[in-house]
Amino acid sequence: MARLTPPPPLSIGVDIGGTKVAAGVVDETGDILDRWQEPTPSRSPQAVEDAILRAVEQLRKRHRVVSVGIGAAGWVDNDQAVVRFSPHLAWRSEPLKARLTGRIDLPLIVDNDANAAAWAEYRFGAGRGSSVMVCITLGTGIGGGLVIGGRLFRGSYGMAGEWGHMISVPDGHWCECGNRGCWEQYASGNALVRDARALARTNSPTAYQLLELVGGDPDNITGPDVTAAAIQGEPTSVELLADVGTWLGRGIANLAAALDPEVVVIGGGVSAAGDLLLLPAQRAFSRTLTGRGFREEARLVLARFRNDAGLIGAADLARHAMIEPPESAQFGFWPRRKERRATKARRRRESLRTRSQSS
Ligand SMILES: [Zn+2]
Repeated sequence: MARLTPPPPLSIGVDIGGTKVAAGVVDETGDILDRWQEPTPSRSPQAVEDAILRAVEQLRKRHRVVSVGIGAAGWVDNDQAVVRFSPHLAWRSEPLKARLTGRIDLPLIVDNDANAAAWAEYRFGAGRGSSVMVCITLGTGIGGGLVIGGRLFRGSYGMAGEWGHMISVPDGHWCECGNRGCWEQYASGNALVRDARALARTNSPTAYQLLELVGGDPDNITGPDVTAAAIQGEPTSVELLADVGTWLGRGIANLAAALDPEVVVIGGGVSAAGDLLLLPAQRAFSRTLTGRGFREEARLVLARFRNDAGLIGAADLARHAMIEPPESAQFGFWPRRKERRATKARRRRESLRTRSQSS
């Protein structure tokens, strides 16, 4: 009897950011087999939906895909269906899953982009196999994800992991969320740019070199400029990144007091600075950690995936949703630990199908 090996289940992951819609076909080991990308069309929900559809259609022409996962910046409910609020897009209580289900005939889930990124790092990246993993995505703000005992912790209503908005400095800088002094106002790409521009405007000689690199206009300074200058050894940029790293380490010490993680994975665009960010963060973390000297310290590590984490994680979450629908999320944990039994049942079904096909 001929033995047919069923093809590996492929999923499409779509990462919707403020500037681009990036999609990819991802296999069960987290490898991206194919890609599709286009600029985020506009803030209109309809246009973004159309872009998602185009990406999925293009990739499905070339691959046999079984599910679709969408990672979006915003608060997504625990059924992985409704985007409650998205800061960069015009989604307000948007039933994204329901809208897309009518247009894409594949099982589909929607999740927060930072949750998806955390899941990718846990499954295939720097946090693989850890007991409690905290993921911190440093972009313009701070995104967060938490994996405990192999499960993504989403909170009672899907809102867990928003630690960028913990108050670090009472009455500090205003934050987009409406509060003052949030952690992400001190440890993020926006914080780096704000401080670099403020320093450049003082006309201090320490900023001359950085200013020269951007053509003399403080408003031209971007986060990647500061990182690139720091990597080249420009001292002021090194200091600015160290400041962000120090705030990062202090905040991680707060998270460690609450969660006692084994690993803290640091990803997102700002993590491109590598040790220039990580070493100051580690120093501040060790100096601030409560009970230091009498406890194990979490490892602070750089993420494996920088730009692809959201896409890979969304695809893998969608693959998991086939095994266990998100409606079964209990106490904010998802997926539950039932995969092994479900996988066995699926294998049995597949082998029966294979046998009937080959006989
Ligand atoms: Zn805030």
